[in-house]
Amino acid sequence: MSKLLIVGTVAFDAIETPFGKTDKILGGAATYISLSASQFGINSGIVSVVGGDFPKKYLKKLNKRFINTDGVEIVENGKTFFWKGKYHNDLNSRDTLITDLNVLADFKPIVPENFKDTDFLMLGNLHPTVQMEVIKQIPNRPKLVVLDTMNFWMDNTLPELMEVIAKIDVITINDEEARQLSGEYSLVKAAQKIHNMGPKYVVIKKGEHGALLFNNGNVFYAPALPLEEVFDPTGAGDTFAGGFIGHMAKSGDISFENMKRAVISGSNLASFCVEKFGTERMENLSQEEIQKRLLQFKLLTQFEIELS
Ligand code: AMP
Repeated sequence: MSKLLIVGTVAFDAIETPFGKTDKILGGAATYISLSASQFGINSGIVSVVGGDFPKKYLKKLNKRFINTDGVEIVENGKTFFWKGKYHNDLNSRDTLITDLNVLADFKPIVPENFKDTDFLMLGNLHPTVQMEVIKQIPNRPKLVVLDTMNFWMDNTLPELMEVIAKIDVITINDEEARQLSGEYSLVKAAQKIHNMGPKYVVIKKGEHGALLFNNGNVFYAPALPLEEVFDPTGAGDTFAGGFIGHMAKSGDISFENMKRAVISGSNLASFCVEKFGTERMENLSQEEIQKRLLQFKLLTQFEIELS
């Protein structure tokens, strides 16, 4: 069975959407990634940090889904990373109101011994220096290294981020971030420029408009499922990334053809994530539901046409 190591925030989130708002609830990039990847029955573990204020029951929720949290450091006298965001009416854009790094500011990650031989590495959204520290602690290069990041790190730590980008295989970012990173408006040109920074594969997420996978001239497009109701998009990008790498890790096949299926798997899982506030939907998702929706994805995009 493949091993998957996930690095990213384990956080408190406060979310406001046109449909309601929450107080501090369980969130964080690594939380969403791991819940999503746990659907593939692989051996996964998280490297992260939380404060003494973080309820143990949240870690137990992850353990219940066979996610190893030995690499989650608990700083008893510190406070957990906190993010507050507010969505606009179209739910495709949001404002970040608060980013309190708290214990993340001085975090020195330690990869647990039994994950140093991981086959797959998911560098979820967090400080690029932490992402680099984790890369350095893994003696043999994993089969596939995927990186997710966001504008916050481009604005504040670009040189460190560029060093990490040079070392990875796949980058997943949203369209605005791809434009910011490359300085190109056209996503095709943006992907080319990002290829030149290091990653062979560039995945550009476009929210409710799906995702594009670029590999030096090859392009694949996966739609997002048109949903009747989107309640809270928080974590959709991370859930997508978790579904992507979960699929890759389960199959062990890192070809472009298989990556296309991984992009569909990621889109499929993200479509569930947005149906409820926070992680709620991802905590109670069945294989039957996932398989049924995969069929919907197939029907949505399959067509026959006569070529003359
Ligand atoms: P997404 O909606 O997929 O972009 O991810 C939302 C999650 O990212 C939330 O659960 C936040 O806790 C987390 N998050 C927000 N800002 C940051 C940041 N600067 N670094 C790491 N994680 C973040």
